Amino acid sequence: MIEVRGLTKRYPGRTVSRNAVDGIDLDIPEGKLVTLLGPSGCGKTTTLRLIAGLERPDAGRIRIGDRLMCAPAEGVFVGVHQRPIGVVFQSYAVWPHMTAVQNVMFPLQSGQKRLPKAQARKRAMEALDLVGLAEFADRPAPALSGGQQQRVSLARALTREPEVLLLDEPLSNLDAGLRDRVRDEIRAVQLRLGITTVFVTHDQDEALAVSDEVIVMDSGRIVERGQAQDIYRCP
Ligand code: ADP
Ligand code: ADP
Repeated sequence: MIEVRGLTKRYPGRTVSRNAVDGIDLDIPEGKLVTLLGPSGCGKTTTLRLIAGLERPDAGRIRIGDRLMCAPAEGVFVGVHQRPIGVVFQSYAVWPHMTAVQNVMFPLQSGQKRLPKAQARKRAMEALDLVGLAEFADRPAPALSGGQQQRVSLARALTREPEVLLLDEPLSNLDAGLRDRVRDEIRAVQLRLGITTVFVTHDQDEALAVSDEVIVMDSGRIVERGQAQDIYRCP
């Protein structure tokens, strides 16, 4: 579903010449949730941003479904808004001057495929219902708890019905007590939709609890991959 080959990214102006992402290959199967796990600075976020089209690679190819998203050698680069993806970042990134439903409607009313307001609201309500927030639709976003705000972000990422969901440390700004709950909600939604998902985390327990497969990165490379339970048997 997501096929990555030889993906390489180097940030300019770094004194130590090291690739942030150093020639990685990935195959993320359709409908699965795969975690990118590893210490801070190992290249997880850069990999996710490259798949999202928020960064341009120096080399490699990324395919989503049967469409080539980028291949610098061939001059191919599909921008973030044209990719069939939804993204959730670690900060809740809800717009504070809007209600929950206005936040979720926003992507439907901007860009090239603008929906009329009534239709956008209907689709946004479906997405909020999916994350269990329908009854909070008309609350101002800042009046929601951190966990609820992160579920609004998830609903917003899903509202355009993407083929792929990209989650960058979606739990790490939440209180410890909320993390497990939101994690389980994310997994439940992912399974219900059967949506192919890449989940970035530095937390082993989180990776173990949430994923079908874990890919361990270090210094821009993949050092281990497998079913969550197998990875944890490694020394
Ligand atoms: P992780 O998500 O695993 O913490 P990142 O992908 O954020 O790792 O970072 C990988 C490496 O690239 C790190 O050395 C980081 O400092 C560097 N890096 C990330 N983003 C930038 C940037 N915009 N400019 C320069 N260096 C960056
Ligand atoms: P995150 O792990 O969510 O990316 P960071 O604080 O590591 O959080 O990075 C925040 C932003 O700064 C990101 O857009 C990242 O690409 C950029 N960044 C990370 N490391 C560096 C760096 N060494 N130099 C410049 N920008 C960086």
